[in-house]
Amino acid sequence: MRKGFCAMPGRPFLQIPGPTNVPERILRAMDRAVIDHRGPEFAGLTKSLLPPLRNVFGTEEGAVILYPTSGTGAWEASLVNVLSPGERILAFNYGHFSALFAQTARNLGYDVDEVPLRWGQALAPEDVEARLRADSAERPYAAVLVVHNETSTGVMSDVAAIRTAIDRVGHDALLIVDTVSSLASIPFAFDAWGVDVALTGSQKGLMLPPGIGIICAGPRALARAEGGGAPRNFFDWRPILRDNANGFFPYTPATLMLFGLREALTMLVEEEGLDAVYARHHRLASGVRAAVAAWGLNNLCEDPARTSDTLTAIVMPEGIDSDAVIRHARERFDLALGVGLGRIKGRVLRIGHIGALNELEVLATLGGVEMALVECGVSLTLGSGVAAAQQQFVKYEVRSTKYEVGQRAALAHTS
Ligand code: PLP
Repeated sequence: MRKGFCAMPGRPFLQIPGPTNVPERILRAMDRAVIDHRGPEFAGLTKSLLPPLRNVFGTEEGAVILYPTSGTGAWEASLVNVLSPGERILAFNYGHFSALFAQTARNLGYDVDEVPLRWGQALAPEDVEARLRADSAERPYAAVLVVHNETSTGVMSDVAAIRTAIDRVGHDALLIVDTVSSLASIPFAFDAWGVDVALTGSQKGLMLPPGIGIICAGPRALARAEGGGAPRNFFDWRPILRDNANGFFPYTPATLMLFGLREALTMLVEEEGLDAVYARHHRLASGVRAAVAAWGLNNLCEDPARTSDTLTAIVMPEGIDSDAVIRHARERFDLALGVGLGRIKGRVLRIGHIGALNELEVLATLGGVEMALVECGVSLTLGSGVAAAQQQFVKYEVRSTKYEVGQRAALAHTS
Protein backbone atom coordinates (compact mmCIF):
# COMPACT_ATOMS: atom_id res chain seq x y z
CA MET A 1 0.00 0.00 0.00
CA ARG A 2 1.34 3.43 -0.92
CA LYS A 3 2.29 5.52 2.13
CA GLY A 4 -0.44 8.02 2.93
CA PHE A 5 -2.95 6.20 0.74
CA CYS A 6 -5.40 4.04 2.59
CA ALA A 7 -8.45 2.52 0.89
CA MET A 8 -11.66 3.40 2.71
CA PRO A 9 -13.43 0.46 4.35
CA GLY A 10 -16.69 -0.73 2.80
CA ARG A 11 -17.66 -0.69 -0.84
CA PRO A 12 -16.66 2.25 -3.01
CA PHE A 13 -19.56 4.00 -4.77
CA LEU A 14 -18.98 4.43 -8.49
CA GLN A 15 -21.86 6.68 -9.51
CA ILE A 16 -20.41 8.29 -12.59
CA PRO A 17 -22.49 7.84 -15.76
CA GLY A 18 -20.19 5.07 -16.94
CA PRO A 19 -18.11 3.07 -16.64
CA THR A 20 -20.70 1.53 -14.35
CA ASN A 21 -20.48 -1.07 -11.60
CA VAL A 22 -19.69 -4.52 -12.95
CA PRO A 23 -21.74 -7.19 -11.15
CA GLU A 24 -19.81 -9.98 -9.42
CA ARG A 25 -21.41 -12.52 -11.75
CA ILE A 26 -19.94 -10.80 -14.77
CA LEU A 27 -16.52 -10.50 -13.14
CA ARG A 28 -16.64 -14.22 -12.36
CA ALA A 29 -17.68 -15.06 -15.92
CA MET A 30 -14.54 -13.29 -17.17
CA ASP A 31 -12.28 -14.76 -14.49
CA ARG A 32 -11.37 -17.91 -16.41
CA ALA A 33 -8.73 -19.38 -18.67
CA VAL A 34 -8.41 -17.81 -22.10
CA ILE A 35 -9.60 -20.15 -24.84
CA ASP A 36 -8.48 -20.58 -28.45
CA HIS A 37 -10.29 -17.95 -30.48
CA ARG A 38 -10.12 -20.23 -33.52
CA GLY A 39 -11.65 -23.23 -31.77
CA PRO A 40 -15.23 -24.57 -31.60
CA GLU A 41 -15.96 -23.32 -28.06
CA PHE A 42 -15.20 -19.78 -29.14
CA ALA A 43 -17.37 -20.08 -32.25
CA GLY A 44 -20.26 -21.15 -30.02
CA LEU A 45 -19.65 -18.15 -27.77
CA THR A 46 -19.78 -15.65 -30.64
CA LYS A 47 -22.91 -17.21 -32.08
CA SER A 48 -24.62 -17.06 -28.69
CA LEU A 49 -24.01 -13.30 -28.41
CA LEU A 50 -25.41 -11.99 -31.67
CA PRO A 51 -29.15 -12.85 -31.33
CA PRO A 52 -29.58 -11.34 -27.84
CA LEU A 53 -27.57 -8.29 -28.92
CA ARG A 54 -29.97 -7.83 -31.83
CA ASN A 55 -32.72 -8.04 -29.26
CA VAL A 56 -31.13 -5.27 -27.18
CA PHE A 57 -30.89 -3.00 -30.23
CA GLY A 58 -34.48 -3.88 -31.20
CA THR A 59 -33.66 -5.23 -34.62
CA GLU A 60 -34.41 -8.26 -36.71
CA GLU A 61 -32.89 -6.98 -39.93
CA GLY A 62 -29.81 -5.26 -38.55
CA ALA A 63 -26.35 -6.82 -38.21
CA VAL A 64 -24.40 -6.46 -34.98
CA ILE A 65 -20.64 -5.91 -35.16
CA LEU A 66 -18.28 -6.10 -32.15
CA TYR A 67 -14.92 -4.34 -31.96
CA PRO A 68 -12.30 -4.32 -29.22
CA THR A 69 -12.55 -0.55 -28.81
CA SER A 70 -14.35 2.15 -26.83
CA GLY A 71 -17.28 4.37 -27.80
CA THR A 72 -14.87 6.69 -29.62
CA GLY A 73 -13.77 3.82 -31.85
CA ALA A 74 -17.41 2.92 -32.44
CA TRP A 75 -18.01 6.52 -33.60
CA GLU A 76 -15.28 6.06 -36.19
CA ALA A 77 -16.63 2.65 -37.28
CA SER A 78 -20.12 4.11 -37.68
CA LEU A 79 -18.78 6.67 -40.16
CA VAL A 80 -16.02 5.08 -42.20
CA ASN A 81 -18.07 2.07 -43.29
CA VAL A 82 -20.88 4.09 -44.84
CA LEU A 83 -19.55 7.54 -45.80
CA SER A 84 -16.90 8.53 -48.33
CA PRO A 85 -14.44 11.31 -47.45
CA GLY A 86 -15.81 14.73 -48.37
CA GLU A 87 -19.45 13.68 -48.03
CA ARG A 88 -21.65 16.12 -46.13
CA ILE A 89 -22.90 15.37 -42.62
CA LEU A 90 -25.51 17.20 -40.53
CA ALA A 91 -24.62 17.29 -36.83
CA PHE A 92 -25.95 19.19 -33.80
CA ASN A 93 -23.93 20.38 -30.85
CA TYR A 94 -26.04 19.99 -27.70
CA GLY A 95 -23.40 18.66 -25.33
CA HIS A 96 -19.85 17.42 -25.00
CA PHE A 97 -20.43 14.11 -26.79
CA SER A 98 -22.49 15.39 -29.71
CA ALA A 99 -19.71 17.96 -30.23
CA LEU A 100 -17.03 15.25 -30.11
CA PHE A 101 -18.98 13.03 -32.53
CA ALA A 102 -19.07 15.92 -35.02
CA GLN A 103 -15.36 16.56 -34.41
CA THR A 104 -14.59 12.89 -35.08
CA ALA A 105 -16.34 13.20 -38.43
CA ARG A 106 -14.36 16.36 -39.29
CA ASN A 107 -11.11 14.66 -38.31
CA LEU A 108 -11.95 11.84 -40.71
CA GLY A 109 -12.31 14.23 -43.63
CA TYR A 110 -16.07 14.67 -43.79
CA ASP A 111 -17.72 18.00 -44.51
CA VAL A 112 -19.69 18.59 -41.30
CA ASP A 113 -22.36 21.24 -40.74
CA GLU A 114 -22.52 21.50 -36.95
CA VAL A 115 -25.57 23.35 -35.63
CA PRO A 116 -25.03 24.88 -32.17
CA LEU A 117 -27.81 24.33 -29.61
CA ARG A 118 -28.00 25.10 -25.90
CA TRP A 119 -26.41 22.49 -23.65
CA GLY A 120 -29.47 21.26 -21.77
CA GLN A 121 -31.70 21.25 -24.85
CA ALA A 122 -32.88 18.09 -26.58
CA LEU A 123 -32.40 17.83 -30.34
CA ALA A 124 -35.75 19.04 -31.69
CA PRO A 125 -37.09 17.06 -34.68
CA GLU A 126 -38.28 20.40 -36.13
CA ASP A 127 -34.64 21.59 -36.25
CA VAL A 128 -33.62 18.47 -38.14
CA GLU A 129 -36.53 18.88 -40.52
CA ALA A 130 -35.79 22.57 -41.19
CA ARG A 131 -32.12 21.88 -41.94
CA LEU A 132 -32.95 19.01 -44.27
CA ARG A 133 -35.57 21.08 -46.11
CA ALA A 134 -32.96 23.76 -46.74
CA ASP A 135 -30.39 21.18 -47.93
CA SER A 136 -28.50 21.49 -51.19
CA ALA A 137 -30.01 19.48 -54.04
CA GLU A 138 -26.61 19.02 -55.74
CA ARG A 139 -24.66 17.84 -52.67
CA PRO A 140 -27.19 16.63 -50.10
CA TYR A 141 -26.27 15.47 -46.62
CA ALA A 142 -25.24 11.82 -46.59
CA ALA A 143 -25.93 11.38 -42.87
CA VAL A 144 -27.49 12.95 -39.78
CA LEU A 145 -25.70 12.33 -36.47
CA VAL A 146 -27.75 12.04 -33.27
CA VAL A 147 -26.67 11.32 -29.70
CA HIS A 148 -29.70 9.59 -28.17
CA ASN A 149 -28.74 10.32 -24.57
CA GLU A 150 -26.29 13.23 -24.13
CA THR A 151 -24.19 12.01 -21.23
CA SER A 152 -22.79 15.46 -20.48
CA THR A 153 -26.20 17.11 -19.99
CA GLY A 154 -28.57 14.27 -19.04
CA VAL A 155 -30.92 14.97 -21.95
CA MET A 156 -32.61 12.33 -24.11
CA SER A 157 -33.59 13.09 -27.68
CA ASP A 158 -36.59 11.55 -29.40
CA VAL A 159 -35.07 9.39 -32.12
CA ALA A 160 -38.42 8.13 -33.42
CA ALA A 161 -39.62 11.72 -33.95
CA ILE A 162 -36.34 12.62 -35.65
CA ARG A 163 -36.83 9.73 -38.10
CA THR A 164 -40.39 10.94 -38.76
CA ALA A 165 -38.99 14.42 -39.46
CA ILE A 166 -36.44 13.01 -41.93
CA ASP A 167 -39.19 11.03 -43.65
CA ARG A 168 -41.46 14.08 -43.85
CA VAL A 169 -38.80 15.77 -45.95
CA GLY A 170 -38.25 12.56 -47.93
CA HIS A 171 -34.52 12.97 -47.35
CA ASP A 172 -32.17 10.08 -48.07
CA ALA A 173 -29.57 10.80 -45.35
CA LEU A 174 -28.56 7.91 -43.14
CA LEU A 175 -29.62 8.22 -39.50
CA ILE A 176 -26.58 7.43 -37.33
CA VAL A 177 -27.34 7.25 -33.60
CA ASP A 178 -24.98 7.15 -30.60
CA THR A 179 -26.57 4.98 -27.90
CA VAL A 180 -23.49 4.82 -25.67
CA SER A 181 -25.33 5.87 -22.50
CA SER A 182 -28.80 4.68 -23.43
CA LEU A 183 -28.64 1.15 -24.84
CA ALA A 184 -29.84 -1.57 -22.47
CA SER A 185 -31.12 1.09 -20.06
CA ILE A 186 -33.58 3.27 -22.00
CA PRO A 187 -35.93 1.88 -24.68
CA PHE A 188 -34.32 1.78 -28.10
CA ALA A 189 -36.01 0.39 -31.22
CA PHE A 190 -33.58 0.21 -34.13
CA ASP A 191 -36.04 -1.20 -36.69
CA ALA A 192 -39.17 0.63 -35.55
CA TRP A 193 -37.35 3.98 -35.44
CA GLY A 194 -35.72 3.49 -38.84
CA VAL A 195 -32.18 3.87 -37.55
CA ASP A 196 -29.46 3.05 -40.10
CA VAL A 197 -26.44 2.76 -37.80
CA ALA A 198 -26.41 2.66 -33.98
CA LEU A 199 -23.31 2.47 -31.85
CA THR A 200 -22.53 1.83 -28.21
CA GLY A 201 -19.83 0.84 -25.73
CA SER A 202 -19.68 -2.01 -23.23
CA GLN A 203 -19.15 0.05 -20.09
CA LYS A 204 -22.58 1.52 -19.38
CA GLY A 205 -25.94 -0.25 -19.69
CA LEU A 206 -24.24 -3.52 -20.60
CA MET A 207 -22.52 -3.53 -17.18
CA LEU A 208 -19.12 -4.58 -18.53
CA PRO A 209 -15.73 -2.95 -18.16
CA PRO A 210 -14.75 -0.55 -20.96
CA GLY A 211 -13.26 -2.30 -23.98
CA ILE A 212 -15.92 -3.36 -26.46
CA GLY A 213 -17.52 -1.06 -29.03
CA ILE A 214 -20.69 -2.33 -30.68
CA ILE A 215 -22.36 -1.31 -33.93
CA CYS A 216 -25.76 -2.22 -35.28
CA ALA A 217 -26.06 -1.68 -39.05
CA GLY A 218 -29.34 -1.76 -40.94
CA PRO A 219 -29.91 -2.84 -44.56
CA ARG A 220 -29.25 0.59 -46.11
CA ALA A 221 -26.00 0.96 -44.18
CA LEU A 222 -24.89 -2.56 -45.07
CA ALA A 223 -25.55 -1.86 -48.75
CA ARG A 224 -23.58 1.41 -48.64
CA ALA A 225 -20.65 -0.33 -46.97
CA GLU A 226 -20.49 -2.90 -49.76
CA GLY A 227 -19.82 -0.38 -52.47
CA GLY A 228 -18.58 2.70 -50.66
CA GLY A 229 -17.37 4.11 -47.38
CA ALA A 230 -13.92 5.46 -46.65
CA PRO A 231 -10.53 3.71 -46.86
CA ARG A 232 -10.55 1.57 -43.74
CA ASN A 233 -8.93 -1.49 -42.27
CA PHE A 234 -9.53 -2.37 -38.63
CA PHE A 235 -13.03 -0.87 -38.59
CA ASP A 236 -14.12 -2.43 -41.88
CA TRP A 237 -17.14 -4.45 -40.84
CA ARG A 238 -17.31 -6.57 -44.02
CA PRO A 239 -14.60 -9.13 -43.05
CA ILE A 240 -15.98 -9.21 -39.50
CA LEU A 241 -19.48 -10.07 -40.73
CA ARG A 242 -18.04 -12.72 -43.04
CA ASP A 243 -16.05 -14.42 -40.27
CA ASN A 244 -18.81 -13.94 -37.66
CA ALA A 245 -21.09 -16.13 -39.76
CA ASN A 246 -18.86 -19.02 -38.62
CA GLY A 247 -18.38 -17.63 -35.10
CA PHE A 248 -14.93 -16.12 -35.67
CA PHE A 249 -13.21 -12.73 -36.08
CA PRO A 250 -10.56 -11.59 -38.57
CA TYR A 251 -8.36 -10.47 -35.64
CA THR A 252 -7.78 -11.61 -32.06
CA PRO A 253 -10.98 -10.69 -30.21
CA ALA A 254 -11.28 -9.63 -26.54
CA THR A 255 -12.02 -13.23 -25.57
CA LEU A 256 -12.70 -12.84 -21.86
CA MET A 257 -14.78 -9.70 -22.31
CA LEU A 258 -17.03 -11.73 -24.58
CA PHE A 259 -17.65 -14.24 -21.79
CA GLY A 260 -18.63 -11.27 -19.64
CA LEU A 261 -20.92 -10.01 -22.38
CA ARG A 262 -22.68 -13.37 -22.53
CA GLU A 263 -23.34 -13.21 -18.80
CA ALA A 264 -24.58 -9.61 -19.06
CA LEU A 265 -26.97 -10.55 -21.86
CA THR A 266 -28.30 -13.48 -19.85
CA MET A 267 -28.99 -11.13 -16.95
CA LEU A 268 -30.57 -8.38 -19.05
CA VAL A 269 -32.47 -10.25 -21.73
CA GLU A 270 -33.29 -13.65 -20.24
CA GLU A 271 -33.55 -13.02 -16.52
CA GLU A 272 -34.64 -9.45 -15.73
CA GLY A 273 -36.07 -8.79 -19.20
CA LEU A 274 -35.51 -5.58 -21.16
CA ASP A 275 -38.87 -4.02 -20.24
CA ALA A 276 -38.10 -4.50 -16.55
CA VAL A 277 -34.58 -3.09 -17.08
CA TYR A 278 -36.09 0.05 -18.66
CA ALA A 279 -38.68 0.31 -15.89
CA ARG A 280 -35.97 0.01 -13.23
CA HIS A 281 -33.91 2.79 -14.81
CA HIS A 282 -36.99 5.00 -15.03
CA ARG A 283 -37.91 4.31 -11.41
CA LEU A 284 -34.40 5.02 -10.11
CA ALA A 285 -34.14 8.16 -12.23
CA SER A 286 -37.46 9.46 -10.92
CA GLY A 287 -36.08 9.09 -7.38
CA VAL A 288 -32.95 11.08 -8.24
CA ARG A 289 -35.01 13.78 -9.97
CA ALA A 290 -37.28 14.04 -6.92
CA ALA A 291 -34.20 14.44 -4.71
CA VAL A 292 -32.82 17.26 -6.87
CA ALA A 293 -36.17 19.07 -6.67
CA ALA A 294 -36.29 18.57 -2.88
CA TRP A 295 -32.83 20.13 -2.57
CA GLY A 296 -34.11 23.17 -4.48
CA LEU A 297 -31.54 22.64 -7.23
CA ASN A 298 -32.05 22.62 -10.98
CA ASN A 299 -31.69 19.80 -13.47
CA LEU A 300 -29.59 20.98 -16.45
CA CYS A 301 -32.16 19.40 -18.78
CA GLU A 302 -34.56 22.14 -19.81
CA ASP A 303 -37.58 19.99 -20.66
CA PRO A 304 -38.82 17.65 -17.89
CA ALA A 305 -40.19 15.30 -20.56
CA ARG A 306 -36.67 14.77 -21.94
CA THR A 307 -34.73 14.13 -18.72
CA SER A 308 -32.41 11.17 -18.96
CA ASP A 309 -33.18 7.93 -17.15
CA THR A 310 -29.49 7.05 -16.91
CA LEU A 311 -27.94 10.17 -15.39
CA THR A 312 -28.93 13.47 -13.85
CA ALA A 313 -26.87 16.63 -14.38
CA ILE A 314 -27.42 19.04 -11.49
CA VAL A 315 -26.63 22.73 -11.87
CA MET A 316 -24.64 24.07 -8.91
CA PRO A 317 -25.90 27.15 -7.05
CA GLU A 318 -23.98 30.41 -7.61
CA GLY A 319 -20.54 30.32 -6.01
CA ILE A 320 -20.32 26.52 -5.72
CA ASP A 321 -17.71 24.74 -7.84
CA SER A 322 -18.92 21.25 -8.77
CA ASP A 323 -15.31 20.02 -9.03
CA ALA A 324 -14.82 20.89 -5.35
CA VAL A 325 -18.01 19.02 -4.36
CA ILE A 326 -16.96 16.00 -6.42
CA ARG A 327 -13.46 16.02 -4.89
CA HIS A 328 -15.00 16.24 -1.43
CA ALA A 329 -17.43 13.36 -2.11
CA ARG A 330 -14.53 11.19 -3.26
CA GLU A 331 -12.24 11.99 -0.36
CA ARG A 332 -14.89 11.91 2.40
CA PHE A 333 -17.17 9.11 1.25
CA ASP A 334 -15.36 7.22 -1.55
CA LEU A 335 -18.23 8.32 -3.77
CA ALA A 336 -17.33 8.97 -7.43
CA LEU A 337 -19.63 11.44 -9.23
CA GLY A 338 -19.48 12.78 -12.77
CA VAL A 339 -17.78 16.11 -13.43
CA GLY A 340 -19.08 18.88 -15.67
CA LEU A 341 -17.51 18.34 -19.09
CA GLY A 342 -16.22 20.91 -21.55
CA ARG A 343 -17.84 24.30 -21.28
CA ILE A 344 -19.90 23.31 -18.19
CA LYS A 345 -16.84 22.27 -16.16
CA GLY A 346 -17.25 23.34 -12.54
CA ARG A 347 -20.93 24.18 -13.02
CA VAL A 348 -22.53 20.77 -13.11
CA LEU A 349 -22.41 17.62 -11.04
CA ARG A 350 -23.64 14.40 -12.66
CA ILE A 351 -25.11 11.44 -10.81
CA GLY A 352 -24.98 8.23 -12.84
CA HIS A 353 -27.93 5.88 -12.32
CA ILE A 354 -27.19 3.41 -15.04
CA GLY A 355 -26.33 -0.26 -15.15
CA ALA A 356 -26.38 -2.67 -12.24
CA LEU A 357 -28.13 -0.55 -9.61
CA ASN A 358 -31.02 -0.72 -7.18
CA GLU A 359 -33.07 1.53 -4.89
CA LEU A 360 -30.87 1.17 -1.82
CA GLU A 361 -27.74 2.04 -3.78
CA VAL A 362 -29.45 5.14 -5.16
CA LEU A 363 -30.53 6.16 -1.64
CA ALA A 364 -26.97 5.76 -0.35
CA THR A 365 -25.65 7.77 -3.28
CA LEU A 366 -28.16 10.54 -2.65
CA GLY A 367 -27.23 10.53 1.05
CA GLY A 368 -23.58 10.98 0.06
CA VAL A 369 -24.36 13.75 -2.41
CA GLU A 370 -26.44 15.58 0.20
CA MET A 371 -23.66 15.44 2.77
CA ALA A 372 -21.00 16.50 0.26
CA LEU A 373 -23.15 19.44 -0.89
CA VAL A 374 -23.82 20.59 2.68
CA GLU A 375 -20.18 20.25 3.69
CA CYS A 376 -19.24 22.33 0.64
CA GLY A 377 -21.59 25.12 1.65
CA VAL A 378 -24.85 24.38 -0.18
CA SER A 379 -27.86 25.18 1.92
CA LEU A 380 -30.30 22.27 1.95
CA THR A 381 -32.08 20.07 4.49
CA LEU A 382 -30.20 16.86 5.15
CA GLY A 383 -32.39 13.88 4.38
CA SER A 384 -34.75 15.83 2.12
CA GLY A 385 -33.44 14.29 -1.10
CA VAL A 386 -33.27 10.79 0.33
CA ALA A 387 -36.84 11.10 1.62
CA ALA A 388 -38.11 12.43 -1.70
CA ALA A 389 -36.52 9.50 -3.52
CA GLN A 390 -38.00 7.05 -1.01
CA GLN A 391 -41.44 8.53 -1.73
CA GLN A 392 -40.90 7.76 -5.40
CA PHE A 393 -39.71 4.24 -4.75
CA VAL A 394 -42.53 3.18 -2.42
CA LYS A 395 -45.06 4.45 -4.98
CA TYR A 396 -43.98 1.89 -7.52
CA GLU A 397 -45.36 -1.61 -7.84
CA VAL A 398 -42.11 -3.05 -9.10
CA ARG A 399 -43.37 -6.37 -10.39
CA SER A 400 -46.42 -5.04 -12.14
CA THR A 401 -44.71 -2.11 -13.86
CA LYS A 402 -45.24 -2.64 -17.56
CA TYR A 403 -42.98 -0.39 -19.50
CA GLU A 404 -42.94 -0.61 -23.24
CA VAL A 405 -41.22 1.47 -25.86
CA GLY A 406 -43.27 4.62 -26.30
CA GLN A 407 -44.81 4.58 -22.83
CA ARG A 408 -42.14 6.74 -21.27
CA ALA A 409 -44.03 9.98 -21.61
CA ALA A 410 -47.14 8.50 -20.01
CA LEU A 411 -45.11 7.16 -17.08
CA ALA A 412 -43.32 10.48 -16.67
CA HIS A 413 -46.66 12.18 -15.96
CA THR A 414 -47.46 9.82 -13.12
CA SER A 415 -44.08 10.12 -11.41
N1 PLP B 1 -20.78 8.92 -26.69
C1 PLP B 1 -21.35 9.12 -25.50
C2 PLP B 1 -22.79 9.49 -25.42
C3 PLP B 1 -20.59 8.94 -24.33
O1 PLP B 1 -21.15 9.12 -23.14
C4 PLP B 1 -19.22 8.58 -24.44
C5 PLP B 1 -18.41 8.40 -23.24
O2 PLP B 1 -18.84 8.55 -22.14
C6 PLP B 1 -18.68 8.41 -25.73
C7 PLP B 1 -19.50 8.57 -26.82
C8 PLP B 1 -17.25 8.06 -25.91
O3 PLP B 1 -17.04 6.76 -25.46
P1 PLP B 1 -15.62 6.26 -24.93
O4 PLP B 1 -15.23 7.15 -23.80
O5 PLP B 1 -15.92 4.84 -24.51
O6 PLP B 1 -14.66 6.32 -26.06
